[in-house]
Amino acid sequence: MKSSELFETAKTLMPGGVSSPVRAIRPYPFYTAHASGSHLTTVDGPVFIDCCMAYGPLILGHAHPHIRKAIEAQLENGWLYGTPSPLEPAFAKMITGDHAGMDMVRFVSSGSEATMAAIRLARGFTGKKDIVKIEGGFHGAHDAVLVKAGSGATTMGVPDSAGVLADLVAHTRQVPYNDVEALESLLMLHTDVAALIIEPVLGNIGPILPEDNYLQSIREITRAHDVLLIFDEVITGYRLGIGGAQAMYGIKPDLTTLGKIIGGGLPIGAFGGRREIMELVAPQGPVYQAGTFSGNPLSLTAGITTLQWLHDHRTLYRDLDEKTRALEESLDRADNGSFVRLGSMFKWFFCSEPPKNYREVKECDTGSFGRFWKRMLDDGIFLPPSQFETNFLSSAHSDKDLTTIARAYTQCLSE
Ligand SMILES: *Cc1c(COP(=O)(O)O)cnc(C)c1O
Repeated sequence: MKSSELFETAKTLMPGGVSSPVRAIRPYPFYTAHASGSHLTTVDGPVFIDCCMAYGPLILGHAHPHIRKAIEAQLENGWLYGTPSPLEPAFAKMITGDHAGMDMVRFVSSGSEATMAAIRLARGFTGKKDIVKIEGGFHGAHDAVLVKAGSGATTMGVPDSAGVLADLVAHTRQVPYNDVEALESLLMLHTDVAALIIEPVLGNIGPILPEDNYLQSIREITRAHDVLLIFDEVITGYRLGIGGAQAMYGIKPDLTTLGKIIGGGLPIGAFGGRREIMELVAPQGPVYQAGTFSGNPLSLTAGITTLQWLHDHRTLYRDLDEKTRALEESLDRADNGSFVRLGSMFKWFFCSEPPKNYREVKECDTGSFGRFWKRMLDDGIFLPPSQFETNFLSSAHSDKDLTTIARAYTQCLSE
């Protein structure tokens, strides 16, 4: 069946025809038949160079042979035990060893689950009620973080989804990214804040990069106010390098959430942090958290193998950085937008200056982006279908891919 027909059927059986909203491309999304390296092959025939990479997890590309072999070997031993397996302490050792801010870790099955548990843990540890998030920051699809952006620092949060209780998100306050003063005045005014949860580099409306010393400043301010600092590194973990944003910027958060890359393409999440905080997690402590698929051997095998590969191929991050740098240099940035990149994360924003926060990114010309996105697809490049999603490269993107991508960018932007 063709993509258009599959989507017609899917729409009658699944809300919006999809399993996650961003995938509902109009008039219909292409359906993927198989994926390999940097390429997606559609059921309709066309093959695309993928710059979405499943929204972040696939840093080694699709169906990496080494990861595949490891998964196949694990299949021989079964794929779900409901008991501990030797993979857990091995993986925990790798992850805590790589992150300055993680003495202990708990494995879960998604990034959403990780941030949900980290927020509960922060409340359990501090005994305080409120959390602060960054406007436009994304931490998954659970109630506490589905708060309308732009409601202002001193007001209470307003639900961003039907079915989320106003009473509940009243405990979620927001401040703009890259605004130290807004955070400081909020914490002066409100003393019942358990934690600040932040993507150290905004990835879900970005990349939007931290200004000089911003992350250092929020570390100092949160510490001074006895507020836990949660780095949501679900995207940035092992994306910006080993040790994520906390290593890149030299910051030690109290709690860290991970996901995406650490599952090697299989479902996963993790949260961890300072020992005295993590010791409150059940069964060691009173903060409850549990999951049937937590620490499942298949995800852990894919994750361990991926992280080991990243450790063994240290030039990979430099190579990826060189590739986005070369892409940037090939573009004429004078005309209708700005190119932002950090390592293998990049984006063309249809606004004259690189945005510094949510308000600025909302000023971007989404109409132009839509036309550009479509033109890129016609040229064989699949970008995430939103002005507000980061593009990713993987180690599977060849120099030839990059030449094709650069040529398409130049061509499509000039039209
Ligand atoms: C993707 C993402 C999440 C949610 O992870 P899921 O695995 O999709 O639940 C949370 N935080 C950030 C920063 C993310 O990018």
